[in-house]
Amino acid sequence: MRNTADILGIPVDNVSMDEALSKVKNFLGENRFHSVYTPNSEIMMAARRDPELKKLLCEADLLVPDGAGVVLASKILGRPLKERVAGFDLTNRLFDIAKESKTSFFFFGGKPGVAEEAVNNLLSRNINIEVKGIRNGYFSEDEEDEIINQINSSGADVLLVALGAPKQEKWIHKNRDKLKVKVCIGVGGTFDVLAGRATRAPKFFQEHGLEWLYRLYKEPWRFIRMMDLPRFILLVTAVRIGLKKA
Ligand code: UDP
Repeated sequence: MRNTADILGIPVDNVSMDEALSKVKNFLGENRFHSVYTPNSEIMMAARRDPELKKLLCEADLLVPDGAGVVLASKILGRPLKERVAGFDLTNRLFDIAKESKTSFFFFGGKPGVAEEAVNNLLSRNINIEVKGIRNGYFSEDEEDEIINQINSSGADVLLVALGAPKQEKWIHKNRDKLKVKVCIGVGGTFDVLAGRATRAPKFFQEHGLEWLYRLYKEPWRFIRMMDLPRFILLVTAVRIGLKKA
């Protein structure tokens, strides 16, 4: 039984980081495809505008709250989520247990060369993961079958898809019946951070729900998109006090 919090009609899993990790471990023990998405406020708002995105989020096998905004929303709605489970952190925790759980990875996404740099950085930090394949995230529609063949023939257990949201979620959902991996995770800008091409907010910002503020400072062109965060909190508050329907 899944323990979820309904946030504007989307069932977000109420799991701690450890519980999320153990769910992924269980997925790896089952011989079928599982999708893992990590929505933040922007994606929750995008899902409100895009029914296809909302539907695919609802059909995920695991949906963890990547943003402080989603956790705050759950509190406003009276269904508090345990904690923020950032996709970046979950991916790194998976790397940590990869050797003991004999888990292999395929890195798909990012600009040419970035995933290779990410993997080299991991290996140089003695994070000895088995990487069965790498493919950058810039492709045309007629290259998709070849990419899927490359992923399937690699035999990787986990496919990390870094195409940015919501492109990666849509790509994963569209191809879920063709992919032979056990777990597929949409990881956004994770490869850029692992490659050292982007930085994550310092711990203080992360621990105080202010990662968005740091991101706004580093990437001010995201301003328009990021306005979805206050919009999301206002909408959730309006739903809570009965001014709007969920
Ligand atoms: N990206 C990609 N293919 C595309 C568009 C984007 O591989 O067609 C990659 C891009 O290089 C970057 C990541 O997707 O590495 C998006 O990162 P971002 O931080 O914008 O993701 P978000 O946090 O918005 O999901």
